[in-house]
Amino acid sequence: MSSDCLFCKILAGEIPADLVYESDTAVAFRDINPQAPTHVLVIPRKHIATINDIEPDDQQIVGSLYTAAREIAAAAGIAEDGYRAVMNCNEGAGQSVFHIHLHVLGGRALGWPPG
Ligand code: 5GP
Ligand code: ZN
Repeated sequence: MSSDCLFCKILAGEIPADLVYESDTAVAFRDINPQAPTHVLVIPRKHIATINDIEPDDQQIVGSLYTAAREIAAAAGIAEDGYRAVMNCNEGAGQSVFHIHLHVLGGRALGWPPG
């Protein structure tokens, strides 16, 4: 728990969020400013600021974000058409909340490369 972290506050129930998934290691909720019909953020319960801060012992936790993404995509009905699971690292890549989160985006055609 990092006291000045928005997503830690969501985990603590201090800020409301539209939760769609919970496990021992991960929680997912709808993005407040969705960029696609499905836009869910999957976060670890453990506060990890950026990809650069992932430790070898965190591998199971980080892997669990992807098994969560798979279940969320299946439940949203976007698994077959396709979706994107992406994590931004630091400001230059667009990271604005410094608690790692996997964006799960789908429900429309997604261009590549991203901007
Ligand atoms: P980033 O830019 O760090 O990759 O993604 C942060 C995401 O968090 C953005 O897509 C933004 O819309 C979302 N976000 C920011 N504040 C809140 C909030 O209070 N609640 C929810 N559900 N999403 C948020
Ligand atoms: Zn945090």
